[in-house]
Amino acid sequence: MARVLMLKCVLCGRTYREREVDYTCPHCGMDGTLDVLYDYDEIKKHFTRECLEKSRDFTQWRYRDILPVNDETNIQPLEVGFTPLYDSGVLAREYGAKKVYIKDDGRNPTASLKDRASAVGVARALDYGKNTIACSSTGNAASSMAGFAAVAGLKSFIFVPESAPEAKVAQLLIYGATVVLVKGNYEDAFNLSTAAIYKFGWYNRNCGINPYLVEGKKTCGLEIAEQLGWEAPDRIFIAVGDGCCISGLYKAFYDLKALGFIDRMPKLVGVQAAGSSPIYHAFKYHLPKVEFVKPDTLADSIAVGAPRNWAKALRAVRQTAGDMVTVTDEEILEAMKELARKTGVFGEPAGVTGFAGFKKMAKERYIGMDERIAIVVTGNGLKDIASARKAVAKPILVEPDINELLKRICC
Ligand SMILES: *Cc1c(COP(=O)(O)O)cnc(C)c1O
Ligand SMILES: [Zn+2]
Repeated sequence: MARVLMLKCVLCGRTYREREVDYTCPHCGMDGTLDVLYDYDEIKKHFTRECLEKSRDFTQWRYRDILPVNDETNIQPLEVGFTPLYDSGVLAREYGAKKVYIKDDGRNPTASLKDRASAVGVARALDYGKNTIACSSTGNAASSMAGFAAVAGLKSFIFVPESAPEAKVAQLLIYGATVVLVKGNYEDAFNLSTAAIYKFGWYNRNCGINPYLVEGKKTCGLEIAEQLGWEAPDRIFIAVGDGCCISGLYKAFYDLKALGFIDRMPKLVGVQAAGSSPIYHAFKYHLPKVEFVKPDTLADSIAVGAPRNWAKALRAVRQTAGDMVTVTDEEILEAMKELARKTGVFGEPAGVTGFAGFKKMAKERYIGMDERIAIVVTGNGLKDIASARKAVAKPILVEPDINELLKRICC
């Protein structure tokens, strides 16, 4: 396990000791999210590429030397991480790139990338001796946290917008969380959860403010690097809502560079839904901070009008000479079908948004023929069947009669 050297504010650069602050920078308030930094020179001495090669731990905990958990016994047995990275020759040929890799993070225990963060969040809550953990979420962070809390024997309180997809709410209830459906959007759920957490003293798993959760999410980037033999891809596409996932990718490559595992960062491309793109807007117009909007997209996981981790997200894109792009709901649904049919990976709307952004940029001839591209699929398609059904035609309904069938299908 890694001992945390310091927490550093992404806005003002002030540093804090681990136990000095719990969530964001006291000087900058909620926007001042913190980086978790380690003593890289010390870690380098015992944590090497060779150690990883010998490791038999095929979960994200193979990177425990750079994960902020104090007591190993607080790690839950659920297998999170080490999801497949598929090399899609079909997509590479079609879009004119050297390589296109698909990272299928819907293959996590509760079927989204959020499990990476929840695994760390629950271990931290136990480190602090908390018996209740809470969060607000568009859906996946919630269902993920509910699962990990259940395994750890923690109580969980979850705040989700009333409109959260059925499957995600079912997951929450099955895991035994106390579920509060908030009549409003994600921002309303976030604000209510913050007030309740403050009042009751629960552990706060809101990824937008809890610095340790992005550490969990970074394991997605660590895996991509390791799965490609420590040759980082040229560009990585990922959906952006609150901005924690893309910040996790940035932190992964930052850590790997600090440890000497890689020598250059990939360009990170954040993809937002056109109806909910405040971070994209700040990036394109070089704004110092993000202006909040009212979200409107069917990709519920990224329907975030008031992103909490905007500062880290903007840094991830700017510091890596990356980019941002928006896609419409129609483009997202089209991408959902295409990805499933060409790679077998079925993502939820936000899950395929990174791929939709890649398609758009490739069609605009923005991607070089010699580029190696990775695309993160952040959540499984079975999470939101209603949206998937919007993308496709109806099945054929027939009487159980071969003659009728012959009239209805053409082969
Ligand atoms: C949470 C989530 C995202 C976006 O992540 P942020 O950290 O909020 O930017 C994208 N896709 C899925 C499936 C998610 O659950
Ligand atoms: Zn600060």
